[in-house]
Amino acid sequence: MTDYKVLRPDLLVIGAGPGGYVASIHARKKGLHVVLVEKQAIGGTCLNVGCIPTKALIHAADRVHEIKTAEQYGISVGAVEINYQKMVERKDQIVTQLSTGILFLLQKLGVEVITGTASFQNDHQVLITTKEETFFIEPKQIIVATGAKSKHLPISGLDLPNVFDSTSILAQTKLPASLCVIGGGVIGMEFAFLFARLGVKVHVLEFLPQVLPSVDKEAVVRLHRFAKQLGIQITNNAQVQAITTEEGPLSIEYLHQETNKRIQTEWVLEAVGRSPNIDGLGLEHTSIQYSNKGIVANEYGQTNRPTIYAIGDVVNKWQLAHTASHQGVIAVDHMMGISHTINDRAIPAVVFTTPMIASVGLTEEQATNQQIPYRVLKTPYSAAGKSLVMNAQNGFVKLLLSPLDQTILGATIMGYDADHLISSVTIQIQNHLPFESIQKTIFAHPTMSEIIHEAYLGIDGQAIHYLE
Ligand code: FAD
Ligand code: NAD
Repeated sequence: MTDYKVLRPDLLVIGAGPGGYVASIHARKKGLHVVLVEKQAIGGTCLNVGCIPTKALIHAADRVHEIKTAEQYGISVGAVEINYQKMVERKDQIVTQLSTGILFLLQKLGVEVITGTASFQNDHQVLITTKEETFFIEPKQIIVATGAKSKHLPISGLDLPNVFDSTSILAQTKLPASLCVIGGGVIGMEFAFLFARLGVKVHVLEFLPQVLPSVDKEAVVRLHRFAKQLGIQITNNAQVQAITTEEGPLSIEYLHQETNKRIQTEWVLEAVGRSPNIDGLGLEHTSIQYSNKGIVANEYGQTNRPTIYAIGDVVNKWQLAHTASHQGVIAVDHMMGISHTINDRAIPAVVFTTPMIASVGLTEEQATNQQIPYRVLKTPYSAAGKSLVMNAQNGFVKLLLSPLDQTILGATIMGYDADHLISSVTIQIQNHLPFESIQKTIFAHPTMSEIIHEAYLGIDGQAIHYLE
């Protein structure tokens, strides 16, 4: 029998996404000997084919829109020409720079980074397969952070040319004339707005009665208006049956209100959710509890095997980069005897459509479903003078207040800068700060952040710049 090499670090981290690489850095800073195994690219989904590349393209599309609407500022511009290949190149450069930067950090700190695939042999031993060799790791502790992958519908035609998922569409260097997005979730709607702003004719087919099902309904109704202005067609309650090439380039057959319908389109994007990455991980050789819904872990990320933790998308409690990273820190701290957890009500999320929708805590619909009493306080963006300067007076901040204990149950912010504005609300909720702490804080003028000040002043009827 061949004698394989065996490594025995304090901690083995499997997967270098925002969950795994953050856990590795945190653990190394705590003095642990850490081995991090990644089979593809440092930074995982988020950095390579998720958060960062999509936002790089969205930022570029926003610039196109600004230039096209510059006349209102007294700026005359000729015809706008989009060089999509250049936009994609910029996106790729950003990804490479960030990925290289994280690898540098990991190596500088002394995390042992291995490019290879990890597969459990049993509860204590993991087989590592690299291009050059195969060996075992028998660590004291393990963190599984293998992320998630695109789900696929059980329909025919997904293998046709120009049918993409979120990863393959990001690799394209040309724009189509038309795009049909199957699935109006976060990925679907972000791509829909991105491509529509670049001049592509977009049609979204959503299975449920509402796109962005977990987002505040009022915000989604508003988003429909913005979608319409951009020519995005949204069909809810649509059940896609097949993709064919019978007529035109691609044809999508779907059932809508008991009628068979068909759309012609150049490209299709399938964005119907993501499922945990457990294939080939060898979990069947362990006693870890898991299912196709994800690895079962407690609030510290610990599985039923006390030395094995799981974090991020593979646990599938939240599918966000920042929660994955936070879970990584919590898991490392827990294995070192320090216990802290995530407060579900203090997790911010941002949908990067135009306008953006940022939220934290409960929506009205969720509070109603959970029979939690609430009152709503809505503050228009126009209460902050800067919103007019920025041509962004159409947004709003909606606070959901508990009439029982004077706390904020949740917030939805729709409009310009919503991604930044949600942070102040999150800080207040996370730290159980009294409303007074925001009310008595001085916010610089003129800034969009003043809208948060107005919203909190409004809780006691003290708003200055609008009539409640
Ligand atoms: P991942 O980032 O998926 O990383 C897991 C890593 O594990 C991968 O690199 C994978 O190659 C590796 N791996 C898997 N199996 C093995 C194995 N057996 N051996 C070795 N390595 C393995 N979230 C946000 O918060 N904000 C956003 O704006 C946002 N935008 C998104 C846009 C898109 C298009 C997509 C697809 C996702 C987006 N997300 C966003 C979600 C975010 O990317 C994920 O929630 C996040 O990446 C999860 O981090 P993770 O570390 O759990 O997993
Ligand atoms: P999702 O769960 O957000 O949305 C999937 C959508 O597809 C849902 O609206 C669902 O009803 C619909 N759908 C399901 N089956 C369908 C069918 N047969 N026909 C038509 N529609 C169907 O999933 P996603 O958009 O793929 O995103 C995955 C995860 O990635 C999200 O949960 C999110 O947490 C994360 N993400 C976050 C951001 C962000 O934070 N800005 C951006 C992108 C992705």
